[in-house]
Amino acid sequence: MTDPRRHVPRTDALLTAPQLRAALDRLGQHTVKTAVHAAQQRVRRGEIAPGEALAEAVRTLPDTASSLRAVVNATGIIVYTNLGRAPLAPAAIEALVAAAGNTDVEFDLATGARARRGHGARAALLAALPEAEDVHVVNNNAAALALTALTLARDREIVISRGELVAIGDGFRLPELIESTGARLREVGTTNHTTPEDYKSAIGPQTAFVLKVHPSNFLVTGFVRAVGLPTLAELDVPVVVDVGSGLLRHSAALPEEPDVQSALRSGAALVTASGDKLLGGPQAGLIFGDAQRVQQVARHPLARALRTDKLTLAALEATIRGPQPPVARALHTMPAALRARADQMAAQLPGIDAAVVDSAARVGGGGAPEVTLASIALSLPAPYASALRVGRPAVVGRIRDGRCLLDLRTVDPLQDQQVIDAIRAAT
Ligand SMILES: *Cc1c(COP(=O)(O)O)cnc(C)c1O
Repeated sequence: MTDPRRHVPRTDALLTAPQLRAALDRLGQHTVKTAVHAAQQRVRRGEIAPGEALAEAVRTLPDTASSLRAVVNATGIIVYTNLGRAPLAPAAIEALVAAAGNTDVEFDLATGARARRGHGARAALLAALPEAEDVHVVNNNAAALALTALTLARDREIVISRGELVAIGDGFRLPELIESTGARLREVGTTNHTTPEDYKSAIGPQTAFVLKVHPSNFLVTGFVRAVGLPTLAELDVPVVVDVGSGLLRHSAALPEEPDVQSALRSGAALVTASGDKLLGGPQAGLIFGDAQRVQQVARHPLARALRTDKLTLAALEATIRGPQPPVARALHTMPAALRARADQMAAQLPGIDAAVVDSAARVGGGGAPEVTLASIALSLPAPYASALRVGRPAVVGRIRDGRCLLDLRTVDPLQDQQVIDAIRAAT
């Protein structure tokens, strides 16, 4: 036996191979050398033969120069924050690719003059929601809330129910965010019980606005009372509503979920929402409302620091104007359609312990807490979970009762073949 370490192919020799030279042009030095060094390391450890180093390096090259990997969301959680929330619609992906180079984001091609940034996305949002006089788009809903508080309530008070002092995921605690802007929170009521009188007795000359926040990721049951928006709108101060999920209109599939249109119709002065939850678009924060207040917010000096980039604006406009985005499809697909897909997929996996089972999907990501949607999953032996996670694309399911479930409600039908291939590759 010869020592394999003596026969490790040299880096410069490997890099002259045509496959890796092409990869250098596409992915850059660092990425390609990382793959080469990992392959050499495997030769040194005796895990592969020296002659296999090149193929190993080529095999382990990433698809792009970014370390972010494409993931098939088979968790059954439609808006999964750790998996990048809403997957973009093909129309939105096309639009953002088209805008990726130079684009007329602040330029009027007809006249050659400067144009208002994001006018297309703004027009699309206003056309979709005639109740709004104006809309301003920022980086995310946290930014929308912070900019609103900063503009309208700095050194003044925001009245809010103790039942709505929410935390949404890692690092988003509403009270801390609001107080960081220099606005003071005036808490009223209790966790589970707040009345109109609580608001009335707290409102005074220091009040900038009443803030109503959708408790989007938990449910309080039992002895519960909250004050509805129509009642709050009768008070003498503006009401700002954080609806969270970004549903533009009421959805029959999620009857309890607040939406922007209803909030404006019920008298909200401003409504804030996320772009990448149930709206199904890119990460963004939307501030809808009357023209005067929206303009005031948009003109605040910090608005420049929270503004959206051209890729987001392109994807957002295309999400609104284009065909139904994947989030809406996932929400509305019938279980029978999911079962038909699952049966077809299982039939293509002979010899593999793949069963079709009932499942319960969720909205997730700050929306419709405790609502479950009847769903269908492919059930595989538990070890598939980790094997599928490290595949390409990665497929992320969940473990239930010692089985790996791949829930099809959150899988785009166009990804079914990829899932079949991934299961075969993991077998
Ligand atoms: C998700 C959520 C937020 C935070 O939105 P981001 O876009 O993640 O900043 C704020 N408020 C509510 C009610 C939410 O559901």
